[in-house]
Amino acid sequence: MNIEKKFLETIKKYRLCNKKEKILVALSGGKDSAVTAYLLKKFGYNIEGLYIDLKIGKYSDDCLNAVNELCERLKIKVYIYNIKEKQGKSIKEIWELVKKKKDLNNCAICGVFKKWILNKEARRLKVNKIATGHNLDDEVQTFLMNVLKGSPELSANSGAIIMNISDKKFIPRIKPLFYLDESEILKYAKKNKLVFVQGKCRYSQESYRGEVRDFVNKLSFKNKTNIINNFENIINSVKNNKKIKMQYCEKCGEPSRGKICKKCEFVGF
Ligand SMILES: [Zn+2]
Repeated sequence: MNIEKKFLETIKKYRLCNKKEKILVALSGGKDSAVTAYLLKKFGYNIEGLYIDLKIGKYSDDCLNAVNELCERLKIKVYIYNIKEKQGKSIKEIWELVKKKKDLNNCAICGVFKKWILNKEARRLKVNKIATGHNLDDEVQTFLMNVLKGSPELSANSGAIIMNISDKKFIPRIKPLFYLDESEILKYAKKNKLVFVQGKCRYSQESYRGEVRDFVNKLSFKNKTNIINNFENIINSVKNNKKIKMQYCEKCGEPSRGKICKKCEFVGF
C-alpha cells in the first residue's frame, strides 16, 4: 500500500494528532525519523525537531548535519540537546557509571536517557505530543523480544500511541510509522532525496535485539502485520485491566513508575 496513505490512515485510526497541536519530532539523523518529520510537515502538521547529541565522534556529527539539513529543507525549528552540557557527563561516562551497578548494554542505557530527555524537553517546549520514527519492524522486534522473555505484558506500554499513561507531566508519544515496513520507508526516503545517516552507532550493543532483528528480516510484510495484529489484541486486554499509575521521581520530579525513575536510579544524581 502507498506509504502516504497508510501514514494518514494510522493517524486517523488511532487519532494520533491533529493540526492544532504542536508536535516535537525526535530526530536521530536516520531515515525513520526523517520520514516521520517529512510526512507530518507535508500533510500540514505543526512540527519542531529535537536532536539529542551524544557527542560520540563522527557518527554524532554526521547525524547532526543530516538533522540540520532536513530541518532547513522542511523549514522547521530544531533544538539540539547536548548531553554532556546538560547532564554534566558524557554518554561514555554515563555508560561506565551505570555498568558498575547494573548489567545493561549501551543501547538500553541510552534508551532510558533519551526517553527522560524527550519528555522533559517536550514539556519545556510546551508541545502537545512527541513523535518518534518507530516502524513496523521495530515494533515486531520489541513485541517478540517481550514474548520470548515471557513478559508480553511489557508491551502494554507500547502501540501507535502511548495512551495508558495519563498524567499532566507525561507528554504522549506517537508513532505514525507504526504500520510501515522498514524497506518501504527506506525507498520513500531515497525517492524524496532526504538526507539521512545509514548504518548504526559503533557503540551499539544490541546483541539480543540483533538476533531477533535477523529473524524479523526474514518475515514477509504479511507475517509482520499478523504479529502486530496479535500484539494489539493482547495489548487491549492488558490495557483494560491495567492503567499504569504514575508517580513523580523523588530526585528529578519526572513521571516515574517507582519512587525513583530509572534515569536517576542509573546515575544517582
Ligand atoms: Zn528521576
